Amino acid sequence: MPELPEVETVARDLQRLVAGATIRDATVHWDRTIRHPMPAERFAAEIAGASIRRVDRRAKTVLLHLADGRVMTVALRMTGALIVADPGTPPDPYARIVFALEDGRELRYRDVRKFGRIGLWPGGGLRSVGAGRGARSRRVEEGQRRYRIGEVFSGHGPEPLTRSFTSARFAERLSRRSAKLKTLLLDQSFISGVGNIYADEALWRARLHPLRAADTLDPAEIRRLHRTVRQVLREGIVNRGSSFSDYVGADGEPGANAERLAVYRRTDQPCYRCGRRIQRIVVGQRSTHFCPHCQREPVASDEP
Ligand SMILES: [Zn+2]
Repeated sequence: MPELPEVETVARDLQRLVAGATIRDATVHWDRTIRHPMPAERFAAEIAGASIRRVDRRAKTVLLHLADGRVMTVALRMTGALIVADPGTPPDPYARIVFALEDGRELRYRDVRKFGRIGLWPGGGLRSVGAGRGARSRRVEEGQRRYRIGEVFSGHGPEPLTRSFTSARFAERLSRRSAKLKTLLLDQSFISGVGNIYADEALWRARLHPLRAADTLDPAEIRRLHRTVRQVLREGIVNRGSSFSDYVGADGEPGANAERLAVYRRTDQPCYRCGRRIQRIVVGQRSTHFCPHCQREPVASDEP
């Protein structure tokens, strides 16, 4: 599943490849990919003729800022990908939406498992619209209301790579939570963009057990985790993301970060620090990889 570094890579690719391009029309092959506005015909009619001014990222969502101030959001979820195809490229049977550009290229939204969602929103706004995964009736209601782009993200936690995400701010947020570190790092309302891969990697580097309660960390441990979260995300971006199955950049090429990971999906292989075997456990239904020697199990009580 694409996390912050993968989504950032896609956004940077698109900024290079399609900023300044104009969408001639959109063909929707899978209606449920459209989150807003609905129905799909309305989405297609509203996006036709729009020019892409700039592309960036918020949390795990790609943002295409249009010249008229509207924003198209692309949440890749499990297997979504945005790929720029030159004229003459054979059609992709997994392309759920095809944006034909005025210059003859196509911006294809490819998604094998079809969990990703695309929305088109007015700029501005503040309130939350929630995760958008409810019953069909809620989905329709959400698709018809005119939420503004700011509302879509108001429930999200801070961006870990911004200057304002300081160690002090991280410490303040951790101290108020008794949740396990692994669970908290995956909580998008606590911190944006971190998923299973980078949570495991950051905890290994910080030598912190995934089951440690957040409010038990001492100041040195907090500073370590703050540093390693940012390190693993930055390195992931430099290496153009971690590809295990479907993830590719907007140029259609996989990233090079998967082979550089220390613990994720390295169960039973030797720890790069101590040589002992990496273990896999399940935390909150998510597989979790760690070194039982370098990342010591939290003690049950503080008895002398
Ligand atoms: Zn180790």
